[in-house]
Amino acid sequence: LHIVHVAVEMAPIAKVGGLGDVVTSISRAVQDMGHNVEIILPKYSFLSHSPLLQNMQYECTFHWGGCNHEVFWATVEDVRVFFIDCQNSMFNTGSVYGQKDDGERFDFFSKAALEFMLQTNRQPDIIHCHDWSTARTAKYLWEDFHNNGLWKPRAVFTIHNLDFGEAKIGEAMFHSQIATTVSPSYAGEVSGNPAVSSQLGKFHGVLNGIDPDIWGPEDDGFLPLKYTAETVVEGKAAAREALRNRLGLTGWGDKPLVGVVSRLTAQKGIHLIKHAAGHTVSRGAQFVLLGSAPDPKIQAEFHGLANGLQGQDAAFYYAYDEPLSHLIYAACDVILVPSIFEPCGLTQLIAMQYGAVPCVRQTGGLRDTVFDVDHDKARAAWEMHGSADPEVPPTLTLALHAPPLTPSETGTANQMLAGVCGA
Ligand code: ADP
Repeated sequence: LHIVHVAVEMAPIAKVGGLGDVVTSISRAVQDMGHNVEIILPKYSFLSHSPLLQNMQYECTFHWGGCNHEVFWATVEDVRVFFIDCQNSMFNTGSVYGQKDDGERFDFFSKAALEFMLQTNRQPDIIHCHDWSTARTAKYLWEDFHNNGLWKPRAVFTIHNLDFGEAKIGEAMFHSQIATTVSPSYAGEVSGNPAVSSQLGKFHGVLNGIDPDIWGPEDDGFLPLKYTAETVVEGKAAAREALRNRLGLTGWGDKPLVGVVSRLTAQKGIHLIKHAAGHTVSRGAQFVLLGSAPDPKIQAEFHGLANGLQGQDAAFYYAYDEPLSHLIYAACDVILVPSIFEPCGLTQLIAMQYGAVPCVRQTGGLRDTVFDVDHDKARAAWEMHGSADPEVPPTLTLALHAPPLTPSETGTANQMLAGVCGA
């Protein structure tokens, strides 16, 4: 089959979060199954800095929407990627998101991608669009192309996060032939949402995965020492040393290390992260956070916390930093993912790959991917009592239901962290 993804993120060249990882990894996985897979992205001006794109080639120019659009291509992570350079400077931006007109820009791109395929006679069997940002691809494909008898590829639409652009997601659910979301539990959690409830017959929860060739300590160029299950102790010790040097934490001793790698938004359980930071330090362990895109209020809260813990074993780093994220996964003993809701989540999967214990709330895809050491016993206790049972042996997941959080849930977080830190 010929499959084309229309997306606004792709790792590592234009990644903000899991959407970027998944566009790359699903393309590579499906290509490995013998299909012809391509990706279409906007040609953001920041891409010109990417060392991976220095050999970008000119493909063609097409006219649509009152202006010319140049198309370039390059091979990224072994997948052929087309970049549409909308000549109206819409994508002359320093980041993927964050402009006032993001909605209009990405709608324009969604249509431009279809025009490019139509005008260059590139008619795939499947067009796969992702989230609110390219949701309109499914609608335009149906209304402007199918209805006019122009061409009939199938549209697949994947919801990576229903929290944004619900109206557009509802349209894409309606106009696509198959719709998916990124875990069975999240599919269940959102099944009552008006955007999806009338389309449940074609809606499936398909669990995300990570690409072990991209996320694997055996061959990770960002680590000082590559490691396998046999050499995990040496590998993690070297990563920890490199992390200390990188962050200037020269005074840090060799204590258990708890880490967070996350966008800092309310979804990610900010209050639990803050609580865990203080608790980790007070129990004699160390805490490191790499957080991107905090709004000023959240950043101020973290500054307050960091000041309170000054001189102690906690480090907070506010940036999007791919190499540092690899180092943190490798260096940490525990990766904390206390999301309020989580469509799938990749950080817990990466943690497991790097020999760090994922410590998660039981929601969405976290629930589908992280299991207690004593899973069956924990589940039986939970089903019997409707909540985490303190008698259950050291549980590494937060065996709790979805929000709202209660003080007792925070109390369970304490118990769990105490168990993990061995304090
Ligand atoms: P989301 O897509 O909601 O942000 P996921 O868990 O699905 O969450 O995916 C997060 C991805 O983004 C992972 O690859 C993670 O390592 C990466 N990531 C998150 N925050 C940062 C950051 N500050 N710096 C580098 N990578 C980050």
